[in-house]
Amino acid sequence: MLSEFSLIDRFFARRASAPSLRHPDEAARPLGIGDDCALIAPPVGHQLAISTDMLVEGRHFFADVDPYALGHKALAVNLSDLAAMGAAPHAFTLALALPRADEAWLDAFSNGLLDLARRFDCALVGGDTTSGPLNICITVFGDVPGGAALRRDGAQAGDDLYVSGTLGDARAELGAIRGEWSAPDGACWRRALEYPEPRVELGQALRGIAHAALDISDGLAGDLMHIFKRSNMRALVDADAVPVSDALRTLPDAARRQCALAGGDDYELCFTAPVSARAALADIARRVDVPLTRIGTIEPIVSTDTPGAPGITWRDANGAPLSLTLQGFDHFHAD
Ligand code: ADP
Ligand code: MG
Repeated sequence: MLSEFSLIDRFFARRASAPSLRHPDEAARPLGIGDDCALIAPPVGHQLAISTDMLVEGRHFFADVDPYALGHKALAVNLSDLAAMGAAPHAFTLALALPRADEAWLDAFSNGLLDLARRFDCALVGGDTTSGPLNICITVFGDVPGGAALRRDGAQAGDDLYVSGTLGDARAELGAIRGEWSAPDGACWRRALEYPEPRVELGQALRGIAHAALDISDGLAGDLMHIFKRSNMRALVDADAVPVSDALRTLPDAARRQCALAGGDDYELCFTAPVSARAALADIARRVDVPLTRIGTIEPIVSTDTPGAPGITWRDANGAPLSLTLQGFDHFHAD
């Protein structure tokens, strides 16, 4: 039987890479796993960006999910938050509750987690391990030049509204699993659900260009409201301009819109930028190899033809008003 310490050592401590030294100063040398605390310092003139995300069995993933995919996703959703702030990943901690020490499971989980960590040079620097119902809580630490973080409160009237990649495939996979519809041949829905790709490079490229940004985790419609409430703005959004995969296009209008506009688990970036940035954004899209699609316009709250509260006015491809009943994801109001 594996002890707590040999488990930590074998699956995490020995496999983790050391945090990189970003500081010319010897006294700021980082310290990883093994002491009571990890020690890290952001480069001079930078702010530390910190985010935590918890994944709970039965809530965020099924008990029989592939453990390699689970390791990937647990870190990916956290890196996505760093991306949304324009921060560069640096380190993370892992708090893990496990029902039992299953070595094959731990091997695959830690490989999924640490393969993604290596790709983004994000070092596992500590954590906590306990027995209990399967629960994975990761905290990430990133760096962003002082004052340059992409916040939710910077949207300005007249800004274009963009999303990266395509939306809705993860929700479509969930629908396929639940029997709401079936996936057409060639659909990449399962991959979208299990292996979200955090838009880390894109987020950093948007610094100095985007006025406001966030990552889409709970569905576009609901997450957009966070920007509008914090920025005190409204938006006119073309629902049919929201980019979707070819496979998602095969679903009926109502199902397709539900997935793309309120699906959740997308981990794409949504941001606003001035009209003058269109050419720069086309360059960035090419450079980071992620499509960026303009889906709407930010409007001030006080205007002659919009109601006076933060919100979204939906239009279809012909500019006709759309009234949508979308069910976003809320843990305390889910059915
Ligand atoms: P403490 O008792 O001081 O909380 P622990 O005995 O829980 O420390 O952990 C020993 C060391 O192993 C610490 O440096 C801790 O950060 C690290 N650690 C524990 N669990 C994990 C894990 N799942 N992943 C990475 N590091 C871990
Ligand atoms: Mg402990």
